[in-house]
Amino acid sequence: MAGFLTDWRQRATGKALAVVRPSTTEEVASIVKLCHKFSVPVVPQGGNTSLVLGSIPDNSGKAIVLSLARLNKIRSVDALNNTMTVEAGCILKNVQDAAADADRLFPLHLASESSCTIGGNLSANAGGEAVLRYGNTRELCLGLEVVTAQGDIWSSLRGLRKDNSSYDLRDLFIGAEGTLGIITAAVLKLFPRPKATLTALAALNTPHDALLLLARTLSHCNGALTGFELMSNYSLQLVHKHFPQLHFPLPLEHPQYALLELSDSESDQHATALLEKTLGEAIEAGEVIDATVATSIAQSKGIWQLRENISAAQAHEGKNIKHDISIMPSRIADFIATTDALLQQHFPGCRMVTFGHLGDGNLHYNVSAPEGISADEFIGRQAEVNRVVYDSVYRFQGSIAAEHGVGAMKRDEIRAYQPAVEIRLMQTIKQALDPDNLMNPGKVV
Ligand SMILES: Cc1cc2nc3c(=O)[nH]c(=O)nc-3n(C[C@H](O)[C@H](O)[C@H](O)COP(=O)(O)OP(=O)(O)OC[C@H]3O[C@@H](n4cnc5c(N)ncnc54)[C@H](O)[C@@H]3O)c2cc1C
Repeated sequence: MAGFLTDWRQRATGKALAVVRPSTTEEVASIVKLCHKFSVPVVPQGGNTSLVLGSIPDNSGKAIVLSLARLNKIRSVDALNNTMTVEAGCILKNVQDAAADADRLFPLHLASESSCTIGGNLSANAGGEAVLRYGNTRELCLGLEVVTAQGDIWSSLRGLRKDNSSYDLRDLFIGAEGTLGIITAAVLKLFPRPKATLTALAALNTPHDALLLLARTLSHCNGALTGFELMSNYSLQLVHKHFPQLHFPLPLEHPQYALLELSDSESDQHATALLEKTLGEAIEAGEVIDATVATSIAQSKGIWQLRENISAAQAHEGKNIKHDISIMPSRIADFIATTDALLQQHFPGCRMVTFGHLGDGNLHYNVSAPEGISADEFIGRQAEVNRVVYDSVYRFQGSIAAEHGVGAMKRDEIRAYQPAVEIRLMQTIKQALDPDNLMNPGKVV
């Protein structure tokens, strides 16, 4: 059972009575009925890529892990309705490929897409690299099939874009991290495939300049801008150190970098002209120091690899304290300056690995040990570091759980920071849907 009990980042290992691997919705329902009858907690698991200890059991050894991996059929693709119906255990990459085979786009993109599942994406309401244009996973779903905590099957797999016939039960299960029921299938929205996809890398002086570039690009390219990522110099220095084979198309000497991705419905030439005009104006305005536009798919992939390998580079460098936060984009530059200064005051010399989906106001605001202090010693001060960061996030009216969810890792923090009335409402919903607390206990609420 080992692979099902340890989390992706190998920070925790739980215990389970068994790992159960059903292959149909009916089998999931029978298992949950039995668990309900004998009061056995159930931990649903997709690809087990959760970064918040959401998909592994606790140490009690009383729960079962219910893996959805064998519910992996693409049930149907309806190109005219621009929808596809897929089972929860489908790997995200396979869902994207099935959409492409029907000449459509399923736009959810995460660095974990070769391992994570659509059921996990829905349950975590995953974000990723194209939220700016297409929204979070919630926005990409029209209907669900769910096994309730009592083992009943509820289905809204009708592919409707309008349906006000009940409370929005679908939206209750999306983002619930398996605490209210088990998603077994979903109807997903598909989009026309862009004619051209263009990636650029820009070097900048400050996060504020990145915001100016974001605003400029949105006003010139509007709907075509699908991704806008920020990467600090130190984040990319780590990538350079641990992945020296990767090519940097710009000198690694500037304080900040922005990755821009445009998806154009006309042509390569149209996208290139738009992007070059925007970047040219930004350079003239002093917002951008230097920029390069990828001229081939290989170059574009190369730029994305720099961004997608930051987490792996950090892991090679040693343990660090991670924060997945969101702040209104207009306040992000202020947040970074203020919180960096506070952290230096409390933990002199700590190194900031700041990067993320700037276009959605979502930062991965990670803190590494100062030079000369071991990672283990620094991790011992995690609660103090979190306090400084999370207090600052709340002063900036942000969120401490942007796209990775709450899981077991942030449950207590959420209780401390969210308004009491919100926690009470969440507990009321949990109590109504899962009165015996058997669905992924110890997570979220
Ligand atoms: C390298 C890397 C990069 C990542 N990048 C991103 C990113 O850019 N954006 C982002 O949002 N996340 C990212 N993540 C986090 C993670 O990949 C996502 O949260 C993903 O959506 C989880 O999918 P999964 O199938 O692995 O779910 P799991 O990890 O197995 O489960 C996640 C949660 O959902 C529950 N769950 C799983 N399946 C079901 C189901 N069928 N029904 C009910 N509950 C279920 C689990 O109990 C758990 O609480 C990244 C992770 C890694 C390792």
